[in-house]
Amino acid sequence: MPQLSRRAFAGSLSLGLLGAGLAPRLATAQSPASPATPAPGAATAAGIARVTPLAQIRIGRFTVTALTDGYADMPYTFFPGRSAGQVEQAAQTQYTARPSGVRFVFNQYLVEDGTRKILLDTGAAGSIGQTGALPRALDAIGINRDAIDAVIVTHMHQDHMGGLILGGRNNYPNAELYIDRRDVKHWTDPAKRNAAPDYLQTSFRMAEEVVRLYPKLQAIDGERQIAPGITLVDLTGHTPGHIGVRIEDGGQSLIMVSDMLFPVVHPGATDVFFLFEQDRAAAQAMRDRFFPLAASEGALIASTHMPFPGLGRIVADRGQRRWQVADWALQD
Ligand SMILES: [Zn+2]
Repeated sequence: MPQLSRRAFAGSLSLGLLGAGLAPRLATAQSPASPATPAPGAATAAGIARVTPLAQIRIGRFTVTALTDGYADMPYTFFPGRSAGQVEQAAQTQYTARPSGVRFVFNQYLVEDGTRKILLDTGAAGSIGQTGALPRALDAIGINRDAIDAVIVTHMHQDHMGGLILGGRNNYPNAELYIDRRDVKHWTDPAKRNAAPDYLQTSFRMAEEVVRLYPKLQAIDGERQIAPGITLVDLTGHTPGHIGVRIEDGGQSLIMVSDMLFPVVHPGATDVFFLFEQDRAAAQAMRDRFFPLAASEGALIASTHMPFPGLGRIVADRGQRRWQVADWALQD
């Protein structure tokens, strides 16, 4: 049963209508700017060559920085519910068709409140496509992985937890780790693993390693505030314990929804899936609830696989739902 209550969303998402302060930042790779200060003169022609552009938004006292671990092209056959030809046609219509499929990026988000640093997901870490860039992205903003206070993994697919265990190590040794209990149970169950197709075996193997290397793992149940203004939200469907993260302060809010949305096929339809979704009825049920609610509330959304920085809204446009990129731009 989806646990996403109308009350829980109505309270938070309506705040999203006020909009977030969009404040992108340019930070030089050589001398990272302080999180609150845009690099001076960063937009000069000479400066552009040296800077690492980052999308950064403010939600009240929080600074949220979009990072990316890289990308992979997903074959057009990976979207059950539509034929490969239909998916390719849709991608062409959106000018996003690639010879080898739909380009997925892997976005992660760093949330800072002035004291704590909380990372949402850790990327595929080289286990798929052109990935493994997250450590460099953190370096570029001057953040050592030892300084991460908490990691929230939205679900135990390889592209969300891979960075936890890159190189067979605990890469965030000082972090509390939060994962929904249903996913921990599912992905460490030998019977489920034995029954699963080959393309899910990497996730099962990684899940075992995560549990072994992270004694600070907290398996969480249902909606839970893990710090003031940061709440885990139940978005079961894509996996049994798929969760989102709601960030709210000062009348502003953002919800990171992880794999609720995939590019090209969502949010225009809910009866099209990604291959890795084992329970399609559950995935569709959650999208059927979430898409119209998010559209009616005008919720500001962060999404793992939508084009970088994955920030936008679901809007209803003449009877069709579509993704509206959030208004952010590089500024002095
Ligand atoms: Zn994913």
